[in-house]
Amino acid sequence: MPRNWAGNYEYTAPRIVTASTVDDVRRALAEPGRVRALGTRHSFTDLPDTTGTLVDVTGFAPEFELDEGAGTVTVPAGIRYGVLAVWLHERGWALRNMGSLPHINVGGATATGTHGSGDANPVLSASVRALRYVGADAEVHEVRRGDPDFDALVVGLGAYGIVVSLTLDLVPAFRLRQDLYTGVSWDAALARYDELTAAGYSVSVFSRWEEPSVGFVWVKTRLEADDDAVPDALLDGVRTHGEVSPFVEGDNATEIGGVPGPWLLRLPHFRLDAQPSLGDEIQTEYFVDRALAPAALDAVRALADGLRPLLFWTELRTAAADGLWLSPAYGRDSAIIHFTWYSDRPDDVVAAVARIEAALEPFGARPHWGKVHGFDRAAIERVHPRLADARAVFERLDPDGRFTNAHLERVGVREPR
Ligand SMILES: Cc1cc2nc3c(=O)[nH]c(=O)nc-3n(C[C@H](O)[C@H](O)[C@H](O)COP(=O)(O)OP(=O)(O)OC[C@H]3O[C@@H](n4cnc5c(N)ncnc54)[C@H](O)[C@@H]3O)c2cc1C
Repeated sequence: MPRNWAGNYEYTAPRIVTASTVDDVRRALAEPGRVRALGTRHSFTDLPDTTGTLVDVTGFAPEFELDEGAGTVTVPAGIRYGVLAVWLHERGWALRNMGSLPHINVGGATATGTHGSGDANPVLSASVRALRYVGADAEVHEVRRGDPDFDALVVGLGAYGIVVSLTLDLVPAFRLRQDLYTGVSWDAALARYDELTAAGYSVSVFSRWEEPSVGFVWVKTRLEADDDAVPDALLDGVRTHGEVSPFVEGDNATEIGGVPGPWLLRLPHFRLDAQPSLGDEIQTEYFVDRALAPAALDAVRALADGLRPLLFWTELRTAAADGLWLSPAYGRDSAIIHFTWYSDRPDDVVAAVARIEAALEPFGARPHWGKVHGFDRAAIERVHPRLADARAVFERLDPDGRFTNAHLERVGVREPR
């Protein structure tokens, strides 16, 4: 059977069909039985799987509809951000933010609350102004921002239908530069956390939890003019000149070293034409209220020696609060703690993840929906105040449970059947 992108999960679905039109999706739903959407397969668990049919939505033609008056673009769900970004840039428009890789598709990223970084930047799902989906009745439905179910459906985990297109907010194209800072100590980072994360439009800390320095701080600065200056110092660290972070393998990173460039070649860490990240890996990530970030980071720091042998890197990012019920940043400005694990000791990773979750429990940490975590329904219920409301919407739209699966029932997004 086919596997996910990272290779750590093999789908058990007896049937996978590729849809390249809305009618293909409707046909798949006209057949009886369970159905789940499959995107670019960048999630790390059984989240997309089903006992019925997986509908791969990445085969739609890259046809986009720009509404310059409204400042929006309507796109097929399965399209990769990187492909959309090139098209938008040619027309003078931009996405406000992107994830670390441009290879992921818009529908799957939206459905799981995928994010980039930046104190003022919410998760990517918050850019959705409207979406169209094929529901359990095999009909096409549309919801727009402001409609009653909208806040339940955007970060919807494929729990009520297959999204076929999304309308996204745009901003005018802009330019950025990327700089790396080294030598920032944990003491300074935790004492002046707000200053650290406000150092740019988007700030990521890459760390292996070593001491005394946090590792690398990767700052993306939005430019009014290409010769805008950036500071030589950040807290007690300094700007490096020209070196690339050792945490990115080979030459797959977008250009660092302070070289100004367009948003689509600077917002993602990885280039669309290269293999991102490690490839053979497992990921885990938690969102905490950013006001609690220093204490939460200290709690993970206490585990560092045990984590490091399994860990490729940690990335620390931020996101602004949003109102999407199942967003990991729902109702709170968030600090985000990410782990990329080597994949050769998956059982040890599960044990390490359990230790991290115990350490972060007092901080109300919410897991990334698409990554490996150990939260069950009760644990999700404690940290997601709108879980029951969202579940009620999914149950109403899909009373026979066509879009449910073991994962969604385990985490309480759907009722057990
Ligand atoms: C190398 C790498 C880097 C990553 N970087 C980031 C990052 O920077 N930030 C971040 O937040 N995450 C990141 N992720 C995680 C990734 O963004 C999420 O796991 C996301 O869910 C992937 O979407 P997908 O469609 O590829 O996944 P899939 O596994 O294909 O699908 C994920 C979920 O979305 C649902 N879904 C997909 N398409 C649709 C649709 N059209 N309609 C309804 N439901 C749908 C599926 O049913 C499933 O439940 C990264 C992952 C990898 C592998």
